[in-house]
Amino acid sequence: MKKQSVDVVVIGAGSAGLNAAAELRRAGVEWLLVEGAQYGTTCARVGCMPSKLLIAAADAAECVERASIFGIEATNVRIDGAAVLDRVRRERDRFVAGAVADTERLPAERRLLGRARFVGPTTLRIGDDLEVAAKAVVIATGSSAVVPPPLRAVRDRLRTSDDIFELPRVPASLAVIGTGIVGLELGQALERLGARVTFLDRSTTLGPLTEPALQRYVRSVLERKSNLELGVDVQSAELAGQRIRLTWRSADGEERAGEFEEVLVAAGRKPNLEDLDLEKTGLELDERGMPAWDSQTTQCGDAPIFMAGDVTGHAPLLHEAIDEGRIAGENAARYPDTSRHVRRAPLVIVFTEPQMAIAGQPYSSLDYGRTEIAEVSFENQGRARVMARAVGLVRLYATRDDCIFRGAELFGPNAEHLAHLLSWSVQQRMTVQRMLRMPFYHPVLEEGLRTGLRALARQLKVANGRPCEDMAESPGM
Ligand SMILES: Cc1cc2nc3c(=O)[nH]c(=O)nc-3n(C[C@H](O)[C@H](O)[C@H](O)COP(=O)(O)OP(=O)(O)OC[C@H]3O[C@@H](n4cnc5c(N)ncnc54)[C@H](O)[C@@H]3O)c2cc1C
Repeated sequence: MKKQSVDVVVIGAGSAGLNAAAELRRAGVEWLLVEGAQYGTTCARVGCMPSKLLIAAADAAECVERASIFGIEATNVRIDGAAVLDRVRRERDRFVAGAVADTERLPAERRLLGRARFVGPTTLRIGDDLEVAAKAVVIATGSSAVVPPPLRAVRDRLRTSDDIFELPRVPASLAVIGTGIVGLELGQALERLGARVTFLDRSTTLGPLTEPALQRYVRSVLERKSNLELGVDVQSAELAGQRIRLTWRSADGEERAGEFEEVLVAAGRKPNLEDLDLEKTGLELDERGMPAWDSQTTQCGDAPIFMAGDVTGHAPLLHEAIDEGRIAGENAARYPDTSRHVRRAPLVIVFTEPQMAIAGQPYSSLDYGRTEIAEVSFENQGRARVMARAVGLVRLYATRDDCIFRGAELFGPNAEHLAHLLSWSVQQRMTVQRMLRMPFYHPVLEEGLRTGLRALARQLKVANGRPCEDMAESPGM
């Protein structure tokens, strides 16, 4: 057995691990980056980038389909599903090549391919013949798709986000198990590209929005086009020739079944901790096998062990993985003199059509007794009507005692951009009246936000008995 000593080992060369390594390099300590599968990151290979490529194709198809609304007849339109998926893979491969090149630019003696597991508090076995003793460890091992037990009998025939982009063409029929972000984004994209899709979920929620009023609205909109089987219990999966037969019990207790060319399982992801033998670290683990973790230091308890990215289960998003990697790298290098970092305002975007987003605090985390809630519909919003995309609802939150804007949940056209403005306002702790003093062009979707903010301001004025600064509405706007 070969033995080696370094200051810090980073486990996992994904987005979090690479950013931890960058920070360690800057700190000038001895470090080692260990990757158990392949370079290229989940984001580039099977996550953010290929999913957005598929959605871009779906947007193009929808644009053509909707052109007739504007008096433009696009005749003989045909979606070449094989060409769509070819482009997804071609462009995906460019992103992967970029991420691999970034990784390979790191000094060869600082990176290693092999699976790591703990054999002591900060000692790791890598593969079969190397043991590395470190002063601190950064765990950045990501997460994996979960396949629920009733589906495991046909595991080899199911798809997850790991292999959905390898489809040779758009399937004629598809079942999507899970109506979280991944299931909705991928299922809806394939639906807009011509697949007949059935969405199944045990819960009755669609995506991450937490406000019941918004969930009801989202459902009423999405079920106009999509076959939603919510509140169901999927009971079995079996092969039926070339197809997969699923049986489920509907929300009203009825037994139902369907046969599908493909089944996408998007039933959640679990942190990749199982293979790490984390119990050898001496960390106290909860019933899910997770150690206590501080989001401001990324430290686990008071041990010289740091976690970053999806493995934390905190906010499984790329920008959060990058931040956590940076914090973990910095703190692992300077352990035990760790520093706390104030995290950015929350921001979650779902690239469905219409899009969903959470900017700042979600409804579920509000202090309801102190919070004023206003809403704005996009069904009659000027620019949304111009674009024939007048669907949507935004709910906005501010605290009564200080008029500070706390967050919003959004469902509507281009919510990705509106949510950025709102989360930046949350991070700057802007009051509603200050937000209203910002410029709003005309005619833009942001004017819809202004309508909602004005409603919020009116409510706040009533609520605290002291007028928020005047933000007079101009007639005719
Ligand atoms: C379909 C899909 C779409 C997404 N879309 C978006 C989006 O639009 N926007 C967004 O912000 N986020 C999106 N995400 C989430 C985003 O991709 C992740 O948050 C991010 O990639 C997590 O990075 P990470 O470094 O934590 O994990 P990863 O990039 O997965 O890196 C973990 C690495 O650790 C390695 N590893 C695991 N165990 C070991 C071990 N024992 N030893 C050595 N190495 C090990 C793995 O092989 C892997 O390379 C999406 C995810 C999916 C699945």
